Amino acid sequence: MAKKIVILGGGISGYGSAILAKKKGFDVFLSDSGTIKDIYRKRLEEWNVEYEQGGHSIERILSADIIVKSPGIPEKNELIQKLRAKSIPIISEMEFAYPYIGKAKCICITGSNGKTTTTSLIYKILKDAGYKVALGGNIGESFAYTVATEEVDWYVLELSSFQLDGMFRFRAHIAILMNITPDHLDRYGYVFQNYVDSKMRIIQNQKSNDFFIYSADDNVIQAELKKRTIPAKELPFMAHNTIFSQEGDAMLHATEINVSVNKKDLMLDCSQIQIKGLHNSYNTMAAALAALAAKVKPSQIKKSIYDFSPVEHRLEPAGEYNGIKFINDSKATNVDSVWYALEAMQTPVVWIAGGTDKGNDYSPLKEFARQKIHTLVCMGLDNKKLLDEFEGIIPNIISTSSLDDAMNAATKAARPQDTVLLSPACASFDLFKCYEDRGEQFKRWVEKLIQQNKQLKFRK
Ligand code: ADP
Repeated sequence: MAKKIVILGGGISGYGSAILAKKKGFDVFLSDSGTIKDIYRKRLEEWNVEYEQGGHSIERILSADIIVKSPGIPEKNELIQKLRAKSIPIISEMEFAYPYIGKAKCICITGSNGKTTTTSLIYKILKDAGYKVALGGNIGESFAYTVATEEVDWYVLELSSFQLDGMFRFRAHIAILMNITPDHLDRYGYVFQNYVDSKMRIIQNQKSNDFFIYSADDNVIQAELKKRTIPAKELPFMAHNTIFSQEGDAMLHATEINVSVNKKDLMLDCSQIQIKGLHNSYNTMAAALAALAAKVKPSQIKKSIYDFSPVEHRLEPAGEYNGIKFINDSKATNVDSVWYALEAMQTPVVWIAGGTDKGNDYSPLKEFARQKIHTLVCMGLDNKKLLDEFEGIIPNIISTSSLDDAMNAATKAARPQDTVLLSPACASFDLFKCYEDRGEQFKRWVEKLIQQNKQLKFRK
């Protein structure tokens, strides 16, 4: 009899897993407590997958042999608890699809920050080099759906800690760990080490011919590496520390990046790289190491890196008005990413921040706040914490509770040559649907301001 598989969640990872399971001959049922998007429903129907939405048929789910769970469903969910009590194996989309990838290899990227940028850059380099590449994990198409429908040379997968938690046999041929700083602690019992352990799963099952790329400047990673032996070839990247690895490394020296793997070298001139700031140097170094490890020619890597522009909502230039630059960094939903955004700022800053606080400790930002920010515009339903934290540090602090008020206040406070930076350090769910919605609204507001100004000039 066919094995019974139940897919929980009909989002991007769920529908792909369901289709792959169907193709592989499982008895498949997909269940979603909310509504499944039309495009996913259509595909499920095309593949004759049985599904339900708006609730769970508990008995049927509890009779499964195996569960594939969407990373969005937390462990404390009542249904998950019931499945655990019955010892039914619960895995992620990645874990389920991995045995079916054939000859393809996987580059897997995790970390608290920099995942999407690094993943997108690696994807571009490999694609420009002529490989058949698929993006998956947190971005792109569903990994499982691609596994079901295409043959590729490389999968470039962005992995969150939630995905890693559901991965057991999965093996990354090239694993990348960007950094580990506190995030999502609400999902890890407020114990940082639990989150660290989750991130370190990126190297589980690696073998001696695999590669492990990591930040040598990250103290948490360094401490973890001291606790274990690493079978894979180590490729550290760094701007401050010096760590020696026989296999290769990447280093930032002033305005130059030197990368070397297996006696193949590459030199990059930072002034020609479009993604700016120390954090983006880290992202670039990680991507270049991965591409060299994947045997892309150094000259090709250089060309693709110079050609790569910022990913939407990540320090993305949104326009200029009256000499004031507007930058959309809506994706900066934690303190560490704001630190790097401020690090990259070359002008005085009007900083727009706030939203749903995830238990933030703002102290790492205070030094930059003193040096670079003259106005903080808080944009959230509850701004008290931000107001208290930066009082006496930033000279001008304004509290607002809508994007429109925040933008008017920021534009009024900014002088020519300043930068208005949206880098919220918080989640967006109080005033917006998601961080993308927040970034879009920011960009539309700036665009409108520029257009109105043009029309005024024209009338004069
Ligand atoms: P992720 O996918 O991990 O959230 P992104 O590439 O989308 O990472 O970047 C998210 C935010 O984090 C950006 O707005 C940027 O300010 C910041 N950031 C990007 N790369 C890094 C890095 N290597 N270290 C720290 N912060 C970073």
